[in-house]
Amino acid sequence: MGTVTRINRDDIINGKAGKRQGKPKGAVIHNDYGAMTPEQYVDWLVRRKNAGQLGLGFAQYYVNKTTVLRADNTGNKAWHTANNEGNAWYLGYEVVQSYYGIISDKEFIKNEDMTLRQVAEDFHYYGLKPNRDTIKLHKQFSSTSCPHRSWELHGKSTNAVKDYFINKVARYMSLGKTVENMLAKEGVSAPVATVPNTVTPQPDGKTVKVGKQATHWETGKVIPKFVIGQVYDVLASKPVTKSKSKKAYLIGKGKVATGWILEQDVDGFKTAGGGNTNKATPATKPVITGTTTETQSIAGVQMFLNRWFYGGLTVDNLAGSATYKALIKALQTELNNQFNAGLVVDGYWGAKTKAACVTVRKGASGNLSRLIQAALICKGYNVGKFNGVFSDDLYNAVIRFQKAKGLSADGIVGKDTFEALFK
Ligand SMILES: [Zn+2]
Repeated sequence: MGTVTRINRDDIINGKAGKRQGKPKGAVIHNDYGAMTPEQYVDWLVRRKNAGQLGLGFAQYYVNKTTVLRADNTGNKAWHTANNEGNAWYLGYEVVQSYYGIISDKEFIKNEDMTLRQVAEDFHYYGLKPNRDTIKLHKQFSSTSCPHRSWELHGKSTNAVKDYFINKVARYMSLGKTVENMLAKEGVSAPVATVPNTVTPQPDGKTVKVGKQATHWETGKVIPKFVIGQVYDVLASKPVTKSKSKKAYLIGKGKVATGWILEQDVDGFKTAGGGNTNKATPATKPVITGTTTETQSIAGVQMFLNRWFYGGLTVDNLAGSATYKALIKALQTELNNQFNAGLVVDGYWGAKTKAACVTVRKGASGNLSRLIQAALICKGYNVGKFNGVFSDDLYNAVIRFQKAKGLSADGIVGKDTFEALFK
């Protein structure tokens, strides 16, 4: 059925973390929280290496549905878990493009499957058996949400997610000794069971009322099982980009799921304590029209935080305490994912968060620059575009902010400027 493209570039890392004294104990599965393909990771890793920044972290493998990048020999250690035992004794596998909104869950699972085939190949090579001791999650080694997307898809508990991986690796190991052999075998025998994109139902008191006749986002056909005016338990929610909705709710009665309903068809979202937070569903009742996650406004920032970081914010274009808390959470998440900072993602500014902040300056691009823009926008500064590029406009805004705060006005965002922006 499928084929695999291999990019063997052991020369990129080239034993930077040292040689392992013996065979690995197992595999650690990561979700990269990024958007890049394995091909793009080649350039990214080389840039990181040339900048002397490999200490910020790397794994042996970066994998999507078509391509396996091996960035170092598996006989070497890797800095992928923020933990000595994990780095020394476990191979690191990054399932890439795991950021929400980049690819669908279905495509993400294809990336994950290819990753698990590579795990199966390496387990054959090293004589390892897939079990709860040999298949591990990044979050078992340090404080991180990684592998955040696999976690959401496969049961939201360490053992549930691990058992899912273990079963798949065992199945792949039974098909062949190499990824190529497994793929060839899958082509002639029954394919590996497809995994439905379901999330374990966990009603927690939230309910939604079906507001108007729910229709299928693609066909426009009425979905009769969602009864207008009926109140359902919310079993799970996930961000979507279908139609006008930003979110879909898995609804049902008790633990029995009825199906996913788009936010636009919902009228009223209640939490356990009451308090209708329907305002938080802009697609149903547009509070701010014409705003996107790239609009330079507080509403744009709130939509960005909701979309990428589960901010759960009411999009009201007002920078209140909830928005600042969500900003800090997003910063903590980024520092954990990019720099293995090991922070508790609690939305509170403290000494550990400050200490974990890195220096960001003109020419940078990515989520840290985006969050700096977001904080400045919330404080009323014009940053040019809200796009994650540390441009001249952002540089000038940082200088204006630093002057206003009595900080050294160098246009470089270091620990003190981060503190002034986020605290
Ligand atoms: Zn990870």
